[in-house]
Amino acid sequence: MPHWSTLIRDIPDFPKPGVTFRDITPLLADADGLKDCIDALAEPWRGVALDAVLGIESRGFILGAALARVLGTGFVPLRKPGKLPGPTVSQAYALEYGEDRLEMHVDAVAPGARVLIVDDVLATGGTLAAALELARRQGARVVGASLLLEVPGLGGRDRWDPDLPIDVATAR
Ligand code: IMP
Repeated sequence: MPHWSTLIRDIPDFPKPGVTFRDITPLLADADGLKDCIDALAEPWRGVALDAVLGIESRGFILGAALARVLGTGFVPLRKPGKLPGPTVSQAYALEYGEDRLEMHVDAVAPGARVLIVDDVLATGGTLAAALELARRQGARVVGASLLLEVPGLGGRDRWDPDLPIDVATAR
């Protein structure tokens, strides 16, 4: 486990009783921790041809924008419904109760663009799978996913394309 992962804390019963929330805000607030975790996220993708990092709202924006700067790519936000001002494409995904959606501007990625999807936590995998579907529907070539941590036992990876790499930085 990398040293900076000790700055991620568990918050019991958030956002609802029985759920333990993995909170990365102490890591983000720490100058060395932030630098080292972004460097760790970047490491597997250095030298990989990439056009853009796609960050999932909202912590994927923070990590993804910093990662894009380090990797020398553009950044594209994948947002919750109704937040993007221009024409969007939308992808639904199932929650425990009901569904949610992710949206992307229709012109955010060029067809064939090589993109990396970034988020903080992989849990059930629904969000990441929706991001993959959205990017592919726009003709992007997804090269993989980059995450800080994974909640074990929820089958998150089962919903991802088995032929594409998922890197979980705290697992290295
Ligand atoms: P999934 O779709 O169930 O894999 O949930 C992943 C999404 O929920 C990601 O966008 C995460 O940011 C968020 N999420 C789920 N659990 C946590 C957590 O414990 N801490 C921070 N974010 C979480």
